[in-house]
Amino acid sequence: MLNIVIFGAPGSGKGTQSELIIEKYGLHHISTGEILRDEIEKRTTLGLIADEYISQGQLVPDQLIIDMFADILDRTSNGKGYIFDGFPRTISQAEALDQMLRERNTSVVAVFSLSVEEQELIHRLLKRGEESGRSDDNLETIQNRLDVYRAQTEPLKEYYKKKGKLFKIKGIGSVEDIFEGIMDTIDRLIK
Ligand code: ADP
Repeated sequence: MLNIVIFGAPGSGKGTQSELIIEKYGLHHISTGEILRDEIEKRTTLGLIADEYISQGQLVPDQLIIDMFADILDRTSNGKGYIFDGFPRTISQAEALDQMLRERNTSVVAVFSLSVEEQELIHRLLKRGEESGRSDDNLETIQNRLDVYRAQTEPLKEYYKKKGKLFKIKGIGSVEDIFEGIMDTIDRLIK
């Protein structure tokens, strides 16, 4: 199975690149951010709790996310593989993911880390906020999300680097050029 993690700061282009990867390789997309926004819209118990954290730019607590994620993994058939977008975001989540995949006799094959400088991230997120009206795409929340990313999520790079699974991709340039870099690596890995 081709299981890929798409990794990067808020606004780094994870969702955009995920769509291209799915289309080309037929993977199943799991975006924890999208699932949470859906839960919020439906006003479920999880959604109501998650909303409090998301609107402040904080992470939703690990155990809630891990349980939600395990549930989705159980409900999807694992065809060619998955693309994990926005998960894992903490070391605990990464360890839980490893464990869940191990139980299913599979593992993460590659982690693509999209690097984009902070000014550009802020610019992109403010623009997205204007267009999509996402409640967390305003300047104060964006700043919090970037701080949280640096403190809690960025250490995952080292976690995956040690396992030899980290591939750094420059996240600036045209969407197609960035995708090209990802494709080159995937094609090498599946050969
Ligand atoms: P972005 O990458 O732009 O922040 P996402 O849609 O991936 O967008 O996530 C939006 C918000 O949802 C995050 O700021 C966080 O509050 C919450 N969230 C998403 N995934 C996770 C996760 N794996 N762990 C904890 N919180 C999460």
